[in-house]
Amino acid sequence: MRVWYGTEHGPARAVDGVTFDLRPGEVLGLVGESGCGKSTLGRGVLGLLPRGAQLDGEVNYGGRNLVEASQREIQRLRGPELGLIFQEPLTRLNPLLRISDHFEETLRSHEPDLPKDEIKRRSIEVLRAMGIPPTRYRAYPHEFSGGMRQRIMIAMALVLRPSFVVADEPTTALDVLVEAQIIGILADLRRNFDTSLLFITHNLGIVAEACDRVAVMYAGRIVEQGPVTDVFARPQHPYTQELLRSTISLSTTGLHYIPGAPPDLIDPPSGCRFHPRCPQAMRVCAEKFPERMTVGPQTVECWLHGPDELVPENGHEPLV
Ligand code: SF4
Ligand code: MG
Repeated sequence: MRVWYGTEHGPARAVDGVTFDLRPGEVLGLVGESGCGKSTLGRGVLGLLPRGAQLDGEVNYGGRNLVEASQREIQRLRGPELGLIFQEPLTRLNPLLRISDHFEETLRSHEPDLPKDEIKRRSIEVLRAMGIPPTRYRAYPHEFSGGMRQRIMIAMALVLRPSFVVADEPTTALDVLVEAQIIGILADLRRNFDTSLLFITHNLGIVAEACDRVAVMYAGRIVEQGPVTDVFARPQHPYTQELLRSTISLSTTGLHYIPGAPPDLIDPPSGCRFHPRCPQAMRVCAEKFPERMTVGPQTVECWLHGPDELVPENGHEPLV
């Protein structure tokens, strides 16, 4: 997938040629600094890019390419198949309707014949998982705090039991408790309905706890991808190493910053986009874009892993 935005200085390449798979029941964590293209990727997968964004590529879901699907077809899939949890809910709670009415409307719009007691049972189940007591089922939106309303929105997205969910930093604005609740409910969905999840976050602790695999994004590319346990134990890309170091040192020696600013997506650095900030940069890194290489269970885009035959003479000299 590639996604770019037109700007007066030329196209900003927010997602610049990424590929990944997500299997049924699997949770893939997508991490990286802000502005690396994570949210654009998540929105692109669901066909929810803002106006002005252009997408080139394929999103293969259940045997069809969603990029070519009609807006109507996507609408039909959204909810019962494709779910999303964003910080800013796309729909708002209607102040005139009870929470129970919201759930009834949501469920009936996809399953018109669902009996009322089943609607109630399923709604209360997800609400409870999100920490909203069943006694509040018939309350009005204004009777809840902002955080609770957001949890209700999440419960509404999940009550339809979508088979694929994109969660884009769902908890940044919320408390730690909510984070734990979301992880809990997602674990249930996954166990009961084989739901797959693309979990976009900058919280590596959550990734360690809740994800099976992790993809590390830098400047519109996935620079490293693999099983969480392997990537965390043996990060192969210098950017992943720095990212993990900055997290670990939070609890020990204070913050470790990755020096330098994230790259300009309109005019990105030549060769490997991380080279101006990479402590291990070599001459080849500034000249050529690294190939995607397989290292054990991981894939990595970094010249440290070859292929050697493509490294020019003096290519391994350190870049000063
Ligand atoms: Fe660093 Fe070079 Fe690897 Fe890029 S390709 S991460 S600059 S060593
Ligand atoms: Mg974002």
